[in-house]
Amino acid sequence: MSRGTETTGGPPVPPLGGWARSLFWFGKGCFVDDLDSALHVAFSEVWGRISLDADEVRARLARRRGAEMSRPPRAWCLAVRAGDLRIEPYRVAIVPFYRDGDVEREEVTLDAKVLTRICAPVALDDGGECLGTVAEKLGVKSEDLSWARKAGVFRERKSRRFRGWTPVLYCDYLLDPSSPLRRGADKLWAWAWKTAVKRLPADFAQVVERRMLYRYVRGEPKARGWRWVCGGCRKLVRTIYLPLRDRNLAEYFGVKVEGDEVDEVVELPRTFACTRCHRVRYFSRVDRHGWNQLVAHATGGLLYGREVRKPEYWKETRRRAYRPSVRRAKSLRREEVRRLLLLGLGVGDVAKELGISVNGVNNHTRVIYREAGVHSYRELRRLAVGNSPCNEYDNATVLIPEATKPSPERT
Ligand SMILES: [Zn+2]
Repeated sequence: MSRGTETTGGPPVPPLGGWARSLFWFGKGCFVDDLDSALHVAFSEVWGRISLDADEVRARLARRRGAEMSRPPRAWCLAVRAGDLRIEPYRVAIVPFYRDGDVEREEVTLDAKVLTRICAPVALDDGGECLGTVAEKLGVKSEDLSWARKAGVFRERKSRRFRGWTPVLYCDYLLDPSSPLRRGADKLWAWAWKTAVKRLPADFAQVVERRMLYRYVRGEPKARGWRWVCGGCRKLVRTIYLPLRDRNLAEYFGVKVEGDEVDEVVELPRTFACTRCHRVRYFSRVDRHGWNQLVAHATGGLLYGREVRKPEYWKETRRRAYRPSVRRAKSLRREEVRRLLLLGLGVGDVAKELGISVNGVNNHTRVIYREAGVHSYRELRRLAVGNSPCNEYDNATVLIPEATKPSPERT
């Protein structure tokens, strides 16, 4: 993909309108035609092949009832931070409640007008903008941008202002005011993320409660910040989400199976709740399911990831470099699992002994093998017996009955 120009290579692109045009558009003056054309070409090829095979069509439509399709991708969600400084009494309908002279909670009316203002992606001026201006646009304090600045989200230079030297920030892509580092969605999801606000019905309004947390310093309450009260689980959370589904390729082309209303794409609950209640799906290029999910959501479950050519700019890279936490304390539970395994207990017995699931023990076992650089229980045991000065594990086998000894094929 090249920025600012349309790529001319690749398969021919069908005439575009509506959904597809929004798919094309990405960033400032930049077009994504690679993903768009790959989806169009794959859809026309595969649908032409399978549309006559009723069983195959039914199998693919059944994916729409699966758990995965009921989870909204993060790029489809409007996210609102409780501490967003743009939620202010002059511009948002807020009803405060006080206790002992301090504000305890507020009822905030989030309507379409407010959400359009505070959830829209933020673009910085090409000539750069002062730190304070950027912070104001994103609804945070200047010091709250320090992590994003350290993480390299912005390019910076110092500029002389009347109060001394001020940082001027530049950013080539759109920013998300609600993401932790203010980074926007992955560009593969830009078609859905950028237009999310536009899908909000004009008459939408919801009253959401937020509470102020306090800490007490010498008996004096000091405000720590706002938290939303999730409408689903009533927990205090920093960010709430409103899923807004985008049109998929099948709907765009009007692909519909007669008399099968059961297989409609699942509509998402149009209400604010926390990420756990909505089971928001986060996209990662490193995750082996990421591409398949993107294709499934973009085509209404009718295509699989393997049937669509990945765009040229696709790279399975991490956004943040891997950094091992070498000084982190060891998992106590894992040590227990390791000890019981080496005493000769099977996975099921370890799970029963510790009161955890078999899957949990298997997860610990995988990490234990990886840490020890071994691939089987025998290798692990040989290593442990060899390293143990008093042969603790070697003697232990004598005490363990035959029935609980590990089977040779267990790894
Ligand atoms: Zn919740």
